Amino acid sequence: MDNFIWIRGEIIRQSQATVSVLSPMAQFGLNVFEGIRCYWNEDKGELYAFRLQEHLDRLMLSSRLVRLPSPYTPAQIESFMKAAIQANEFQADTAVRMTLFADGQGTWNTCEPVSLFIAPMVKFRTKLEKVPSLKACISSWERINDNTLPPRAKVGANYINGRYAHLQARHDGYDVPIFLGRDGKVAEGAGACLFMVRNGQLVTPPTTSSVLESITRDTLIVLARDAGMTVVERSVDRTELYLADEMFLCGSAAEIAPIVSVDGYLLGQGKPGAKSVSLLMAYLAVTSGETPAHPEWRTVVHCRA
Ligand code: PMP
Repeated sequence: MDNFIWIRGEIIRQSQATVSVLSPMAQFGLNVFEGIRCYWNEDKGELYAFRLQEHLDRLMLSSRLVRLPSPYTPAQIESFMKAAIQANEFQADTAVRMTLFADGQGTWNTCEPVSLFIAPMVKFRTKLEKVPSLKACISSWERINDNTLPPRAKVGANYINGRYAHLQARHDGYDVPIFLGRDGKVAEGAGACLFMVRNGQLVTPPTTSSVLESITRDTLIVLARDAGMTVVERSVDRTELYLADEMFLCGSAAEIAPIVSVDGYLLGQGKPGAKSVSLLMAYLAVTSGETPAHPEWRTVVHCRA
């Protein structure tokens, strides 16, 4: 689909947007980005960006860490994003890629010029009748860490770590990898955070365990507590994953994606667990505004004329 995108102050067709092959973005993956989901509420005729402010804050955090200064404020970026979405007139669930990148023709240590593109595309939410059942493995690839390539910053080049692990997992017959960090403790998936249910508690590694400070992870901690579950953020051993009753990956893109086995150890009944599915339902209800709870998480970015 040749959608409209916002780039360097203009709204143009995606096929018309260009970046130099010599740009540090093209050569070295020097960019910081966000993947933001927007959920269409058919009854209200409104499209809600989910936790937009938190995504903009994280974009600024990443830009600061990698010293790729943003030429725009979060408020400006928000208005550009609305313009890009409205140009497409989508009345459907939408994913938005928002990327600040090293433009021009410098090297990997240049800090300017920095440009921005914002690319919306239709992407439907997980269907409750088609919830994934993922087979995971513990990756032999180690998660990048805070003193090498900090996972806290959402930098394009970081994703090559996920690529090694993901392609190895697929090659070996699994759906997804789970990373351990340098300390041997569980970190996250490739592009998503991880939760398990063990002894009735919902457990997730802390944000100091070589993970991205995931907005979905934070959301689920709140939603699980709202629902009366006990949530614990603590470091997690590999063998705990084999003994878990339920497990899922989470992220803006993944939403809640249940894992049913790890290295061949079947979890629970070997199908998506009850707590995982109920959290997915709560998540979709709150993102799409089907429940009035947490209105502070939804920003209207488009509505039916
Ligand atoms: N970890 C990594 C490495 C990711 O790329 C993502 C997706 N942004 C996540 C976790 C989940 O983060 P969020 O919930 O903010 O999308």
